[in-house]
Amino acid sequence: MIVLDVAVPVPLNKTFHYLYPEGINPENIVGKRVKIPFGKRILIGYVVACLYIEEDPSLKLKQLMEVIDDEVLIDNETVELADYISKNYICSLGEAYSSIIPISMQAPKRISRNTKNVFELSYERHILNAQQRNAVSAINASLDKNSYSVFLVHGVTASGKTEVYINVIEHALNQDKNAIMLIPEISLTPQFVDIMTRRFGSKIGVWHSGITNVEKYKLFHKAKIGEIKIVLGARSAIFVPFKKLGVIVIDEEHEHKYKQEQKPSYDAREIAKWRGKYHNAVVIFGSATPSLETYTDAQEKKIGLIELNERIDKKDLPEVKIISLKKRLFKTSLLLSETVDSISKTLARKEQIIVFLNRRGYSPVIMCKKCGTVFQCPKCSISMVFHKNPDLVKCHYCGETKHFPLTCFVCKGREAAVFGTGTQKVEDELKRLFKNAKIFRLDSDTASTKKVYADVYNGIKNEKYDILLGTQMIAKGFDFPRVTLVCVIDADTYLYLPGFKSVERTFQLITQVAGRSGRGNVKGSVIVQTNNPMHYAMKYAKNHDFVNFYNIEIEQRKKMLYPPYCDVAKIVLRNKNEQRVDEDSENLFTFLNDLNDSCELELKLLGPVPAYIAKLNNTYRRHIIIKGERKKILHLAKFLENFKQSLGTFVGIEIMPSDLL
Ligand SMILES: [Zn+2]
Ligand SMILES: [Zn+2]
Repeated sequence: MIVLDVAVPVPLNKTFHYLYPEGINPENIVGKRVKIPFGKRILIGYVVACLYIEEDPSLKLKQLMEVIDDEVLIDNETVELADYISKNYICSLGEAYSSIIPISMQAPKRISRNTKNVFELSYERHILNAQQRNAVSAINASLDKNSYSVFLVHGVTASGKTEVYINVIEHALNQDKNAIMLIPEISLTPQFVDIMTRRFGSKIGVWHSGITNVEKYKLFHKAKIGEIKIVLGARSAIFVPFKKLGVIVIDEEHEHKYKQEQKPSYDAREIAKWRGKYHNAVVIFGSATPSLETYTDAQEKKIGLIELNERIDKKDLPEVKIISLKKRLFKTSLLLSETVDSISKTLARKEQIIVFLNRRGYSPVIMCKKCGTVFQCPKCSISMVFHKNPDLVKCHYCGETKHFPLTCFVCKGREAAVFGTGTQKVEDELKRLFKNAKIFRLDSDTASTKKVYADVYNGIKNEKYDILLGTQMIAKGFDFPRVTLVCVIDADTYLYLPGFKSVERTFQLITQVAGRSGRGNVKGSVIVQTNNPMHYAMKYAKNHDFVNFYNIEIEQRKKMLYPPYCDVAKIVLRNKNEQRVDEDSENLFTFLNDLNDSCELELKLLGPVPAYIAKLNNTYRRHIIIKGERKKILHLAKFLENFKQSLGTFVGIEIMPSDLL
């Protein structure tokens, strides 16, 4: 008999057989998504093959309920890519398929004919400088040869990397090839859509978490039939099914957002390399502050290195001032007088300002006035944050929200004091100090719709606002020529997190946000407020000196044995019962350690330890870290399914996590 072989997005390492409705040719269902009964649930699966099997009445095969797609979504590349993902990130085939072809993607009810936007093409061509020209011709030479190659474009901020990408993309399009360009932050979408549509008109599609399931389907379809040639988007845009990829650009490649944390924990940079190889395409990683891993690859000549070490039109890099927060006079405010002074002068010159603080809300610490107890989230091991208008207390991890004031759970006191500074408080202070300044605050509290991003972009560009205040959403990629002052309110937010990437991230963040200053005709300046003015991350960020920062930090990695000197994996155990998760982690550690010895894998196992946030949403979390060679880690990970944990314990593994927190 003939059955359908279906990959189902559940954590079981096999595919499942289903019967098909009478009157349908099973061959026509292969490569499509189907609705299936699965245990007591109804799931969506991916038909990967139709098979001949011996008839066996004891099998009790179920019939699929509905064929979802009219057209085939899974092609040969998808099959191979799903296999690669399932083997390299430890997940089932069905889970791998679900990251490539989203389950929720929905065909439109009716294919509307030609609602194509016709963009006015202004052909606003920029003249490239010598460094940009060299970069473009080196990369285009690879495109001409149809050979797979990877380049790191290491260019200081405002060195014109985007113009390099655009010229290479244009070259690829002229060869009738396609392009994918990834950007790290959804807030940057309007800016890049603006730049790219001016150059490429309606050949471009946009893909990110904000678009609807129907829009996603349409975009997949258009990419497949060649109606669009370029896709601009976030991490998952890496899977858009172009038939003939010529170039993949990953802008700000150092961003940890290119790594998916949830299962399957794929890394878009690795997927880019895989697809680049498959299509004989060019992969471009761009950054002013490359990750240590990528820069090391370039140093070791595993990938090409292209340096753009001057700003376009030989503009100066901004002057960076590091100011110690220790000399604060009024402990209640985080705005130092020097900072206030600079803002006021910049406003007087009618120039714009970016104020950056990576902490949203009003105040991150709430304390009982009577007994001094700090309010933690009842479900998580983390402090709650005070938000104003309306006055609420929120947990930024699980979303728990309470009205303020709270009743102290220790002494039942009803009065609380708040300490520390978040973006809301900085906004209040700025409004008080600069009554006429127009301020826009962008953080995940104000960015509720994707329209907000367009408002910010247009508002700053058209000088409707004087000050853009916000979290990491405003820290990178923006190109506003009238911004001449950037203030980093607290540069230390990452510095003392216990992860191996904390110093690197601090350096990257300061350099990136500083790079938003002075991109136009007026020289920019930057103020960095920190409690650690002597730290080398501050020192090298001040001098825009990536190479020397790299040289010091890479020695730390070598000494402590972290990537790029070894591969890592993080095993996560979770349970609502603390005792069980502790027992399970101890047992799992022993289980893996024994296997490590008996298989002579020579891996290093660390832990088990409580996660950085040990309790999240009433669930206790423990980590085991594995260091060593990726191949061996994957070998060991295969045994995880043989481990018998107790009731309610979840065991997961993240291969090459972006950090170990
Ligand atoms: Zn109290
Ligand atoms: Zn919480």
